[in-house]
Amino acid sequence: MFTPLHLDPESRPAPTFVSGPAKQLLVGGAWVPAGSGATLDTVDPTTQQTITAIASADASDVDRAVAAAHQAFEEPAWSDISPYKRSMMLLQIADAIEGAADELATLESLEMGGTPGLTKWMIHHSVEVFRHYAGWPTKIYGQTAPSEPNQFTYTLRQPLGVVAAITAWNGPLLQLAWKVAPALATGNTVVVKPAQQTSLSAIRFGELLEATDLPPGVVNIVTGFGSVVGEALIQHPDVNKVSFTGSTAVGKHLLEASAGNLKRVTLELGGKSPSIVFADADLAAAAKTVAAGFLAGTGQGCVAGSRIFVEASVRSEFSALLAEEMRAYTVGDPFHPDTVMGPLASKQHYDRVTSYFDIARDAGATITLGGPQDGDNGLFVAPTLIENVTNDMRVAQEEIFGPIAVLMPFTDLDEVVRLSNDSIYGLAASVWTKDLSRAHRAASKLEAGTVWINTWGDMSAGIVPFGGFKQSGIGREHGTDVIDAFTETKTVIVNL
Ligand code: NAD
Repeated sequence: MFTPLHLDPESRPAPTFVSGPAKQLLVGGAWVPAGSGATLDTVDPTTQQTITAIASADASDVDRAVAAAHQAFEEPAWSDISPYKRSMMLLQIADAIEGAADELATLESLEMGGTPGLTKWMIHHSVEVFRHYAGWPTKIYGQTAPSEPNQFTYTLRQPLGVVAAITAWNGPLLQLAWKVAPALATGNTVVVKPAQQTSLSAIRFGELLEATDLPPGVVNIVTGFGSVVGEALIQHPDVNKVSFTGSTAVGKHLLEASAGNLKRVTLELGGKSPSIVFADADLAAAAKTVAAGFLAGTGQGCVAGSRIFVEASVRSEFSALLAEEMRAYTVGDPFHPDTVMGPLASKQHYDRVTSYFDIARDAGATITLGGPQDGDNGLFVAPTLIENVTNDMRVAQEEIFGPIAVLMPFTDLDEVVRLSNDSIYGLAASVWTKDLSRAHRAASKLEAGTVWINTWGDMSAGIVPFGGFKQSGIGREHGTDVIDAFTETKTVIVNL
């Protein structure tokens, strides 16, 4: 029987940040209410109670924020500072986040239901990302080009202007850091639009900027609904780039909507990533990490390894090991010390995720562990494994974004590569084998932006490129690619 762990309300954290009036928008360095005065409630998915209210902006607020970002972009206080000073500002931001790390993690655990272990990791990762990008301003070079004898030709890398950073609810500050840090390192200004479900750490981040030397208007924060605030940003003629993390459906719409002024666009979208286990793998180690691959963050991760392929000869041995690992994911209030996995992030998302139980059964698949539970369990879902699945079923093809995986057997490398690639997505994959030549062959043939071999989920804080093949996205965050994504190349030809 599935009984989520609960905590008494008085044992749960109550940060002072969430008391008091509705949180406001950061526009041009000042905190202001939405022009309409509208607010929206942010809800704790563990208790389904309101945490606090935040400003619910509209298109006129977006106009003000974009104008402030545009003005800041043109001010010498930002556009004429030395690369070294820009580096120092990024380091100040990292220090400010680090100093408030526990508070920021608590806000994220309250809003998205992640355990403090998970949210603290995400905040510290964000600190590392700002420190990584602090190294870039002093290392962005142009080139000198072969020229006619009477000419001198060179290139400059210059910022794009105003960048809209639109994030999903499953990694609030982390996704903000992935966008804001490279945008600032390359000299752009930013309007951040956090997910409406999880805006608190972004708003607190805005407050922390006051302790840095960042000029007003360089970072603006506009909270509200995607269909209003996000839509106004992607249509806005003075926004030159959109860096977006979210669903493939909204990503496709964004591409069309941003065509008006040919915005530069980076899209980090959905996934349905394969975890491939060969018979010669360390099955115990694979089972542990494959379980984490679709249960970490309650399965609400873009790189979730939720399509598990197991070599047929070890299927029952691996299934038993996996089941044992899944049973260790104690479900409950994220602040309970014994909880390993919290609730899903919202009621709307819970209804969508749990609808896949019927979708699986109606297609003839079998739920062998977890699945629907008796009684009112709030927004908690048991770790769930679905077997007797074929790769064409909806449960094998659609991103569920919850603690649910399908398990399918395979017989050889060619077959598993074909099955893995038979997906509209291509974000990530993991391969488990002791045969390194087979691992490298798989890595070269899999259609995925990241391939992990005998591991899963390792994320560098900015060092290696991250992004998706096919409908998992366009462009890359991090690595050296990111500098191209946030700058224009200008060619200068001088007659001597
Ligand atoms: P979503 O697409 O519903 O929302 C993402 C953001 O877009 C939110 O801030 C939302 O308010 C905004 N938005 C919604 N409609 C918009 C519109 N018309 N115009 C502009 N902005 C709009 O996604 P979600 O439910 O918040 O997040 C889950 C999805 O994000 C999953 O598909 C997941 O795989 C994906 N994701 C991808 C990555 C990655 O790096 N590839 C990382 C995390 C999450």
